[in-house]
Amino acid sequence: MSEPNYSVANADLRRLVEKMKSDGMPRGLAITHEFVRDEHARPLAEILPLTQRIKGLYDHGDRPAAGNALCLAMIGLRNLLQQYALIGILEYKKMQELAVLVGAIPDPAEKWKYYRLPDKSFACWHCGAEVLCVDQTQSDRIPGMPLAGFGRVRHKVVPFCPNCETRPSERGTFVEEPEFDVC
Ligand SMILES: [Zn+2]
Repeated sequence: MSEPNYSVANADLRRLVEKMKSDGMPRGLAITHEFVRDEHARPLAEILPLTQRIKGLYDHGDRPAAGNALCLAMIGLRNLLQQYALIGILEYKKMQELAVLVGAIPDPAEKWKYYRLPDKSFACWHCGAEVLCVDQTQSDRIPGMPLAGFGRVRHKVVPFCPNCETRPSERGTFVEEPEFDVC
């Protein structure tokens, strides 16, 4: 695989993300007086007003567009979270959520492969390319019988990075999960 794009995240942050990927996200503390470490007080005092500003712009009906106030504030927050992640700011639950939301770290729900951009699209954590999608038509199959199915079809949007991953097939299969009666 190619060299990672260090303008997306530097080597230290990439190491931290690899650790979270293998160990899972830290449990996540609440930001309350008893938990906040001294060295986190100033970073939090920088971050929290910026989140209020972003929320205010959203509530005002603004949508992030390249170069507008909301987009710039989100990028500012992303940069702060990336910087302070290295001194442990992601110990706090709220900061973890924000870091995923503004793309300071990749989204665990996307298998840690992609990070969010301000316009809610995704980019590749490894190379920074815009993530593309394939609309995959999937046919069901019966477990243990590779050629048999009930003829049911569904569509699924499958994301991929055009640089790091091969384009997924437009045809796939799925297995119907058995239903259990809970009584
Ligand atoms: Zn990529």
